[in-house]
Amino acid sequence: SELVVSFGEMLIDFVPTVAGVSLAEAPAFVKAPGGAPANVAIAVARLGGGAAFVGKLGDDEFGRMLAAILRDNGVDDGGVVFDAGARTALAFVTLRADGEREFMFYRNPSADMLLTHAELNVELIKRAAVFHYGSISLIAEPCRSAHLRAMEIAKEAGALLSYDPNLREALWPSREEARTKILSIWDQADIVKVSEVELEFLTGIDSVEDDVVMKLWRPTMKLLLVTLGDQGCKYYARDFRGAVPSYKVQQVDTTGAGDAFVGALLRRIVQDPSSLQDQKKLEEAIKFANACGAITTTKKGAIPSLPTEVEVLKLMESA
Ligand code: ATP
Repeated sequence: SELVVSFGEMLIDFVPTVAGVSLAEAPAFVKAPGGAPANVAIAVARLGGGAAFVGKLGDDEFGRMLAAILRDNGVDDGGVVFDAGARTALAFVTLRADGEREFMFYRNPSADMLLTHAELNVELIKRAAVFHYGSISLIAEPCRSAHLRAMEIAKEAGALLSYDPNLREALWPSREEARTKILSIWDQADIVKVSEVELEFLTGIDSVEDDVVMKLWRPTMKLLLVTLGDQGCKYYARDFRGAVPSYKVQQVDTTGAGDAFVGALLRRIVQDPSSLQDQKKLEEAIKFANACGAITTTKKGAIPSLPTEVEVLKLMESA
């Protein structure tokens, strides 16, 4: 199977209609569907791959809208359940003029936090070649237990586990709890991707030197990646390591670049799992992922800017 099953939250970001304002200053907001695990599933599907999403939405207009977005993009929504009582999660997000991102979350609790292990689509999870997840679903019960159970089911069925912590400090009770819980499942993952910010948060050291990154390496891992924005990324495998630069593009909005990168990388890995042991193949897969991330920064929003395989190959050939 080449199926990528992505687990976690799907929500609506409300983004100001004008750039560079605080949430308080924003005159109006537009809906931007998101949630990193959902973005990854759509990224895989947009590239022509098999993808499914597992998570909980509110049984409301927004929840049904999000499920329709999954289906319209070719993502299997057989793992989506609806909560009759809680609302679909909302987040108001802005990039202020000073470059700071401002978040305001409506999760009190939201439907995504209420997924139970009994609601897991076990048959779907068992079909995964790769099972992908973040850390937001680890924050609160009952979703936390559902997340841990889903990882077990996928692993037992032979899937590779892929982890992008996607740190959102504001959602955790404390920095310490975030660090502890994010690292509590570190040893289970085959593939881990962190950003520079997450590397510093988890190690306490503001550097992307190899000895710092290696603090996050485990002998159980097959691949550890550090994404570096327009600089591309660094990769660490058991027998080799290196860096792959990205492609030059006109950056407009970086939202979803990390998710596009992960989706593209996982797409290539399910197509040829031996890429994890072969440095040349792995570098090709990472180039593809860099190109996919780069293209995603050239348009506003995450989901609308995710490219097709043809678009990614075109950027790679023109470079
Ligand atoms: P986010 O959380 O904003 O989605 P991230 O911090 O997880 O992103 P980034 O490092 O911003 O991830 O981007 C992921 C990948 O996308 C990078 O490794 C790179 O390949 C590509 N990328 C991002 N920004 C640019 C850019 N301006 N130019 C070229 N490539 C880019």
